[in-house]
Amino acid sequence: RPRILSGVQPTGNLHLGNYLGAITRFVTLQEDHECLYCVVDLHAITVPQDPAGLEATTREVTAAFIAAGIDPVRHAIFNQSRVPGHAELAWIFNCVARLGWLNRMTQFKEKAGKDRENASVGLYAYPVLMAADILLYRADAVPVGDDQKQHLELTRDIATKFNNDFAARIAEKTGGDAYFKLPEPLIQGPATRVMSLRDGAKKMSKSDPSDNSRINLTDDADTIAGKVRRAKTDPDALPSEVEGLAGRPEADNLVAIFAGLAGQTKAEVLRSHGGSQFSAFKGALSDLAVERLAPIAAEMRRLKADPGYIDGVLRSGAERADAIAQATLRDVKAIVGLLG
Ligand code: ATP
Ligand code: MG
Repeated sequence: RPRILSGVQPTGNLHLGNYLGAITRFVTLQEDHECLYCVVDLHAITVPQDPAGLEATTREVTAAFIAAGIDPVRHAIFNQSRVPGHAELAWIFNCVARLGWLNRMTQFKEKAGKDRENASVGLYAYPVLMAADILLYRADAVPVGDDQKQHLELTRDIATKFNNDFAARIAEKTGGDAYFKLPEPLIQGPATRVMSLRDGAKKMSKSDPSDNSRINLTDDADTIAGKVRRAKTDPDALPSEVEGLAGRPEADNLVAIFAGLAGQTKAEVLRSHGGSQFSAFKGALSDLAVERLAPIAAEMRRLKADPGYIDGVLRSGAERADAIAQATLRDVKAIVGLLG
């Protein structure tokens, strides 16, 4: 079975973007893939985190994975820092990746903001660690939201350069002509880039200071209804065809969210809701969001009441991941010329 790796940062409240762009995909893919789903705590500390809060959020994301339907018995759910190979391979890749490549990364520019001199070195090197996360397991494919597309291209560049730089040694040690296969990005579904409810030009993010910009997985029904009601829109009714959403980012976003939650395409949503005013469509959307999210939030509450269970899942997931990771690192060290 093809192997999948993906991660979510324990940086705050999980939201509809994480759910539709990543977690629902994880659930679907587990049926015919071998999956490794990682709570990427080493990525989280690229920006300041409260230590106790980080522990809590790591368990929270784990609970969300399980509550959303990922089976922790068949697949590995673990936190990144428990498997030392991520950091070790990232260092080796720091010496493969070029400064010029990282200088082009838009996520760094957005997250570092104006005070770039004061951003952590880790935030800059984030995409290299992400390449290590993926290549450590020689993953075939990586389900992510659209915002991670550039980082996946960088991962493929790092794999290609490693294969080229060490081609002779790879042939000598393994008999093959490439060590890393190039992982495929899986950016699928109607909601690969869910936008902020307050600003149709900004992606919905855990780190957005405005809680009204996102719907959290754990929001209650009234909160969801209130946020949807206040979501920015334009004054026109919904179009009946997808082409009619061009130039209407807020309308496009709400239709995409509806489609993602309903398991439909945007065209199907517009076939049933085209011509509706936003007041009516927003009502249908918040009902649907509550219907989908309430059972997940309830299950998360139940799971969080048993931190021993959550920690056991993370521990056994890390053991399985580590066995694969160690094999890769042994090969990589031999290829690079690191004794041991
Ligand atoms: P942060 O603001 O701390 O970066 P985030 O909301 O971007 O948090 P991540 O943990 O960085 O969440 O990303 C986890 C997964 O969710 C990734 O696959 C990412 O592409 C996806 N994702 C994040 N935001 C969105 C979004 N708005 N729409 C669709 N997918 C998203
Ligand atoms: Mg992010």
